[in-house]
Amino acid sequence: MANSDSTLVSVLQQRCPRCHQGQLFTHSALNLAHFTEMPPACPVCGQAYEPEPGFYWGAMYISFAFSTAIMLVVGFAVYYLLDDPDTWVYITAVAIFSLLLTPASLRYSRTLMLYLFGGVHYDARYAATRR
Ligand SMILES: [Zn+2]
Repeated sequence: MANSDSTLVSVLQQRCPRCHQGQLFTHSALNLAHFTEMPPACPVCGQAYEPEPGFYWGAMYISFAFSTAIMLVVGFAVYYLLDDPDTWVYITAVAIFSLLLTPASLRYSRTLMLYLFGGVHYDARYAATRR
């Protein structure tokens, strides 16, 4: 498994904040029935993925920011690409893109929550170990 010292790459790949190797999510984002499932701890270094009960409630605020960004980007894209169409086109486009990006939004919200507020930092010693 490829290891990265880069926190940005690890966030983008949704990997453990301590070892940058273990996956944060059990299934693919395309598995719509299970895309939210996370193992309780990193399968590589053993780092707990939920530092305290209810930790990921805070990810809702990050997800809200993602949703706002999606709405703004899609809204402006529709305005400029379709030359200011009827209101139903805006609503339909925003709804479709919001639904399609829901798994990515949720997973990156949780990933950022863990990296920003989980109190865990990259430690190269854990990158080399396997349990
Ligand atoms: Zn780990």
